[in-house]
Amino acid sequence: MARTADILVVGGGVIGCAIAYELAKAGLAVTLVERGTPGCEASSAGAGMLAPQAESSAPSPRLALGLASKALYADLALELRERTGLDIEYETGGNLHCFLDEGDEAVGRAACAWQREAGLKAELLSRADALGLEPDISAEIRGALFFPEDHWVNNPRLVTALAGAAAQEGVRFVTGEVAAFLRAGDRITGGQVGEDRIRAAVVVLAAGAWSGQLAATAGLRLPVGPVRGQIVCLEGIPRRHRHLLHVGDHYLVPRVNGEILIGASVEWAGFAKQVTAEYVRSALDAAIRLAPALARLPVKATWAGFRPWAPDELPVIGPWPGLEGLVVATGHFRNGILWAPITARLIRELLVDHAPSLDLTPFRPDRFAK
Ligand SMILES: Cc1cc2nc3c(=O)[nH]c(=O)nc-3n(C[C@H](O)[C@H](O)[C@H](O)COP(=O)(O)OP(=O)(O)OC[C@H]3O[C@@H](n4cnc5c(N)ncnc54)[C@H](O)[C@@H]3O)c2cc1C
Repeated sequence: MARTADILVVGGGVIGCAIAYELAKAGLAVTLVERGTPGCEASSAGAGMLAPQAESSAPSPRLALGLASKALYADLALELRERTGLDIEYETGGNLHCFLDEGDEAVGRAACAWQREAGLKAELLSRADALGLEPDISAEIRGALFFPEDHWVNNPRLVTALAGAAAQEGVRFVTGEVAAFLRAGDRITGGQVGEDRIRAAVVVLAAGAWSGQLAATAGLRLPVGPVRGQIVCLEGIPRRHRHLLHVGDHYLVPRVNGEILIGASVEWAGFAKQVTAEYVRSALDAAIRLAPALARLPVKATWAGFRPWAPDELPVIGPWPGLEGLVVATGHFRNGILWAPITARLIRELLVDHAPSLDLTPFRPDRFAK
């Protein structure tokens, strides 16, 4: 059977759902195809940090994208609550990078210096001030770098809310796998889903870590693949922390319900969705060294997910040059929760207003062609 939509979104992670919602609000007829349930992959596996400052080592297009997206979150949280009744737990407590040794402190001082020079809020805290913010952390810390404007959300809840709001706006959700793109010369015309051919004026490729595989079905080279991230989740009731905490390469994310997510590994391990003993040990060691009382908490869960990674670690956002009917929104790597609202806005500006508000040149889909 053949069906037609204005827009076919492939992938129902946070990126696909945010785009579908945004385009449907702009009046377009949107079909979204997801082979599992919305958010079933990286978008629920993630930790939910909205931390452009912690994730940057210099002013860059990725920092600009992150700051622009974070600025959209307060309104998005209200809008989603009004439309769906769901609270995405938008938390604004800030981000504390704790120094356990001289090396951490040197890195923190340098980060504080460039961020302040760039006009961002960053503060070096003494041990006493850091303990004042988070009394449960070890008195052995030397101090901390504080980013008061880094935030976080409950990301599984976010995807559920985006999908619910999108459905209310008339987005048609299809459960199925897009096995291949339909291509006619220099035009992508839709996707093959089982026996069905779903045709659309524009196909949006938002299939996360699987985007490279799907692009290949139309003969396109898009080197986006999986980078595994593992998380250990502790049950911390009553809630013990009010800030994001970083220590070395690890972070702790305190959810409103008392869960504490400790993450995350960054591993090029293909599509092997495993939690390893080695990673669980390193995550728990780091967390307990920072906050010794965590040693007594129950481990509630562990999981792994696949971040969509491109070789230059920038997202891939925009139309495929020289090809009609294909727009790409993938490669969000460690920042897809953060970058979802701005990605959706940029795609809407591209398709509806024909004037993206940010320069998309660094994110061009064909930048890996050679
Ligand atoms: C452990 C971990 C921690 C993270 N922490 C953070 C964080 O704190 N902050 C942050 O901003 N980001 C974080 N991230 C990154 C973030 O989760 C991802 O960048 C983001 O979820 C990517 O969203 P997506 O929609 O592109 O991909 P996904 O959520 O993977 O969605 C892609 C969807 O496409 C579907 N799909 C694939 N192929 C097909 C097909 N052929 N047909 C139909 N459907 C298909 C899949 O089933 C999937 O649901 C983390 C990621 C991990 C793994």
